[in-house]
Amino acid sequence: MRIGLKLTLVFIIVVVMAVTAATIFSAAAISTAFTRYIQQNLSIRMEEFATNVANHYKSYGWHNLDRLVAANNWRGRGQQAFGQRKLMSERIIIADKRGLVVFDSYGQEVGKEVADQVSRGLPVIVDGDHVGTIIVNQVLGNLERDFIQSIRKANWYAGILAIIMAVIASMLVSKKFSTPLTLLAYAARRIAAKDLSHRIQITSNDEFGQVAQSFNAMAEILERNESMRKQLIADIAHELRTPLALLRGNLESLQEGVIKPTSAVFMSLHDESLRMSRLVTDLQSLSLADAGELIVVKNKENLNDILSGIVNGLQHEAVVHGVSLQIFLPDVNIIVSVDRQRIEQVCYNLLGNALRYTPAGGTIRVRLSQTVDNAIIEIADTGKGINADELPYIFNRFYRVDKSRNRESGGAGLGLAIAKSFVEAHGGKIWVESKPQRGSKFSFTLPKLDIN
Ligand code: ADP
Repeated sequence: MRIGLKLTLVFIIVVVMAVTAATIFSAAAISTAFTRYIQQNLSIRMEEFATNVANHYKSYGWHNLDRLVAANNWRGRGQQAFGQRKLMSERIIIADKRGLVVFDSYGQEVGKEVADQVSRGLPVIVDGDHVGTIIVNQVLGNLERDFIQSIRKANWYAGILAIIMAVIASMLVSKKFSTPLTLLAYAARRIAAKDLSHRIQITSNDEFGQVAQSFNAMAEILERNESMRKQLIADIAHELRTPLALLRGNLESLQEGVIKPTSAVFMSLHDESLRMSRLVTDLQSLSLADAGELIVVKNKENLNDILSGIVNGLQHEAVVHGVSLQIFLPDVNIIVSVDRQRIEQVCYNLLGNALRYTPAGGTIRVRLSQTVDNAIIEIADTGKGINADELPYIFNRFYRVDKSRNRESGGAGLGLAIAKSFVEAHGGKIWVESKPQRGSKFSFTLPKLDIN
């Protein structure tokens, strides 16, 4: 069943229930109020009438009662009170002391015995004697019946009007509900059909607007992931193509005897295969880190030792580059719980870049410090720096500032991506500050081991 029809049905059921309840309760309330009024009115008149009947009895006995009733204008009082319409029809019966009817305003019961009704009548007392009884029977009058009926009618008219309004309202409301749902369903189908650029137009700030916002955010992520996936495959293919072409070319030349199988040729082939296996290992680490499955074997390690070991090991290379490599360690040892190999790789990647992008005469400073919770490692160089517009992408995989750079001067653009995922796998953060031609400073944190 469509949402609009469901809403209409619910609205109609509620309206019918409300009108029925209103009719029942208002009719009951009106009826009670009328009866109370009549009863009060009647008891005053009855007292007066009983005295008149007693006086009449003294003079005429039970004769000429018609005249007495007419003279008391019994019915006339009701008419006076409520205009020309009769409030209640009242049947007046007067019985003598034996309980036999001597007067009936309807004229039907005269002579009959009504002893059973005497107890609820008003006694007629003459000189202390109970000579008869007045019994008044009330029948619902036109006015009250008309009044209740008109209320009932008005209620049903109001009900019909409310039903019409409910149908119109439910149509409007259901349109308001179903339009965004239809848009959402359509958008979901578009996304399922791989149109990842499809977005829902957000027109409200209510729950639907929020769902649309979340949907758009999801589509955005899907689109970005999809383009990253395509880019990644293209990059991997590109990175593998060059070393494979080199290997193939060299092997074919060897086969055809174009080049001699010298040790230099074999070393170059070996270098290319090493480059490829490094690329594959890096990619595997990244994909494991993405899936949260990177194996990190943590041990209690002294960061001062790790860093001085690495810096010592690279001093020779720094000298070859004509760069001064300096280290600044705090007086106290900073202990962390890390996978030593992975953290060493982070440092090698950052220091490798610093050496690569810092010209001769420059300086590279490695600094270790700490806050209450973290160890902070900074690697600052006086190299060529990175433009501000490149900085946000620097940790993306396969991102290289110099796209046309030949492969000898740099890696595949995975070094920083690897460093980022390894640091994050340890619960740390990594960031860069850089000024073109002035140098770059890469920093990362590692949570300190809680010694307590
Ligand atoms: P690559 O293996 O190509 O060096 P990275 O992921 O390590 O890839 O670095 C990405 C890019 O960031 C590099 O291509 C380089 O342009 C830039 N970069 C990294 N470190 C530095 C640095 N210390 N100084 C200047 N540029 C740097």
